[in-house]
Amino acid sequence: MSLIRSNIWLADGNIVIQADGVQFKVHQGYLARLSTIFSDAFSMPQPRDGAQLRVDGCHVLHLQDSAQDLAVVLSEIYDRIGRKYEIQHIFKEGGSRLRAEFPNTLWELSRFESQAGWLGIDVEEAEGTKVLFRIVNFCTARSDIEELTPILPIAYYRANLRSIETILAGEPRLDDSPSVPLSPKAQRTTLLGRHRLLERYGEFFAWVDSIGQFGSPFDWTPHTPQCSRMILNLTKAVWKPKLRLIFMLRTWDEVERQLQAELGMMLELKSLLCDACYGGARKTRVDARQRLGNDLPGLFGFQSWAALHKVA
Ligand SMILES: [Zn+2]
Repeated sequence: MSLIRSNIWLADGNIVIQADGVQFKVHQGYLARLSTIFSDAFSMPQPRDGAQLRVDGCHVLHLQDSAQDLAVVLSEIYDRIGRKYEIQHIFKEGGSRLRAEFPNTLWELSRFESQAGWLGIDVEEAEGTKVLFRIVNFCTARSDIEELTPILPIAYYRANLRSIETILAGEPRLDDSPSVPLSPKAQRTTLLGRHRLLERYGEFFAWVDSIGQFGSPFDWTPHTPQCSRMILNLTKAVWKPKLRLIFMLRTWDEVERQLQAELGMMLELKSLLCDACYGGARKTRVDARQRLGNDLPGLFGFQSWAALHKVA
C-alpha cells in the first residue's frame, strides 16, 4: 500500500496520524485538548515492532477511521484556527484605524482637534455616542488584543464628555432603537476616571483665578480693571453652571476661541487681558494640559503611555 501525504501537513506538527494509507501531520497536544476521541487515540498503546518508522521526524499513529472522515474533521479544526488568526488580523487592522481616531499622544490629539471635529466618530451627536460606547465596550472587553489598549485612555476621556445618565443608561433614543450604555466594567473605569478628572479641574483652570497675579517685578505695565473684570466672565464660563470636561484636553487656542464665542467677546482675550496676565494664563494652561495629557492613562487605571505603547 502506497502512502499518501494529505494536505493537512502542519510544518510544526508533532505527530503523524495515518488512516487508510493517508497521513496527516498535526499537533498532538492541541487535538488531545479539543477532543477525547483524539486524546484516547493518542493514549492507546502503539505496536512496538521496531518497524515503526518516524515520518518527518514524528511518530506515526495508526487509526482505524476512514481517511475521508479524518480529513473532514481535521480540516474543520485547522480551518477554524485559520479563521481565528484571520480575525486577529482584522483586529490588528481595526486597531490601527481606531488608533487614528483615538490618538494616543497629545500631539496627535491636537492635530485631530484642530481639524473640524474628529475623523469619523462625532463626539457631540447621539449617534456618535452609540459608536463611541460600542468601541469602548469592545476594547474594554477585549483587553487581550494589545493593539486596542492604547486607544482606551482617550476613549474613556471622550466617554466622560457625556452626562452620568448617558454613561449609565446610554443616550436616550427618540425612536425605538435600543440605547447603548457602557458595559459595567467600562462604566466603572469611566466614572473612576471622571472622579479623577474632576479632582484636577480646579487646578487645571487655576489660571483664571490667577489673572491679576501674573507679571513680574520688571514688568511696569499696570494690571488693568478691564483685565480684572474678565476673571468674572471666565469664571462663569469655565465653572458655572457646571464644570466642562471637554475643555480639559482642548488646546489653548480652541478654548480661547470657544470662550470668546460664548461670552460674545468683541475683542480677543489677548487684547482684553494685560500682557502679563494673558501670557501667564496661557503658559499655565498649556503646561497643565501637557501634564494632564501625560497622566491620562493613569486616570483610567493604565500605567503610562510608554507601557501602553510597549504592548501595542
Ligand atoms: Zn491683568
